[in-house]
Amino acid sequence: MRAVVTGGAGFIGSHLCQRLLHEGHEVVCVDSFLTSKPANVEHLREERHFRLDQRDITQGLEVPGPVNAVFHLASPASPADYLKLPLETLRAGSAGTWHALDLAAAKGARFLLASTSESYGDPLVHPQPESYWGHVNPVGPRSVYDEAKRFSEALTVAYRRHRGVDAKIVRIFNTFGPRMRTDDGRAIPNFIGQALRKEPITVTGDGGQTRSLCYVDDLVDGLLRMLASDHGGPVNLGNPHEVSMLELAEWIRKLSGATSEITLVPRPQDDPERRRPDITMARELLGWEPTTPVEQGLRDTINDFRLRLASGDFTERKVRPGPHR
Ligand code: NAD
Ligand code: UDP
Repeated sequence: MRAVVTGGAGFIGSHLCQRLLHEGHEVVCVDSFLTSKPANVEHLREERHFRLDQRDITQGLEVPGPVNAVFHLASPASPADYLKLPLETLRAGSAGTWHALDLAAAKGARFLLASTSESYGDPLVHPQPESYWGHVNPVGPRSVYDEAKRFSEALTVAYRRHRGVDAKIVRIFNTFGPRMRTDDGRAIPNFIGQALRKEPITVTGDGGQTRSLCYVDDLVDGLLRMLASDHGGPVNLGNPHEVSMLELAEWIRKLSGATSEITLVPRPQDDPERRRPDITMARELLGWEPTTPVEQGLRDTINDFRLRLASGDFTERKVRPGPHR
């Protein structure tokens, strides 16, 4: 198979490219490095079947030669990133998704949209099944991401219905692992970075809000199973293991062997209160469920951060808004 991965140099994208190459596929990784850096795929550059195309997909997406699959992951994903990059995020979800779907239509390729649990907003139903339509503030600060992804979902379904594209949607719940940017602002990289730097660990609100945490290898396995399946989705992919942010901070502090204090800081507006995927569909349709214990995933991620810290590679790509066209 020859696969295009938009956002392929990002956290999840780099693991997906690696897994595809490992399985003998050819990979065209398309990325503008808006929220990542080339180092994420540096180890893949020597692979014969790997090609890196630095490009902003909102400006167009042309890939010479045959394409069998388009994995569309290009979008800022961390709340800290998309709040700094509101227009880029909306454009990635709208024009970017449009170009990625056009490429799949032109090549007769399968298409997989990396959507998100944020499609459910701050959910009133718990855990969240795919049949739930969500509770999203369309004009709040997070709307640039939530509505961009909801638009992406609508566009994907329209291409399936009206252009005959074999297009699929997965809704990804909080995923973590090695290669997350240490400064991307999400809870896990923040907590690990703070613990290893012996800084206070910043928990928002009273820390009672929950997330459900999936290790990246399991998630990538779910993406591949969804692509290979005959189902269009949306299908939730995530680990139902739910923890409060205060528990998570204490857990990471213990696993890091750190003595950092835990500091309570103000909670962002519209921050979802509870989040846990109902993965009945993924189990039944894809035979998929996460197999990596969260604690093992956290240990691997802490080790990765520790190595990068020791090698002095802690200067990360600073996210800056691009020109607003
Ligand atoms: P990430 O920020 O590490 O990766 C996103 C990648 O997309 C980056 O490499 C970035 O440079 C690239 N990109 C952004 N805009 C682009 C553009 N216009 N043109 C080309 N490349 C562009 O984030 P991630 O955590 O790896 O997330 C990957 C995808 O999965 C995103 O679509 C995100 O919405 C989705 N997702 C992730 C999670 C999670 O927990 N990590 C949860 C739900 C959904
Ligand atoms: N959070 C926190 N401390 C941080 C960063 C985030 O307590 O340093 C909280 C955040 O307010 C939210 C939860 O952790 O309640 C998960 O946030 P994250 O940014 O990881 O992802 P989200 O699920 O909100 O997209």
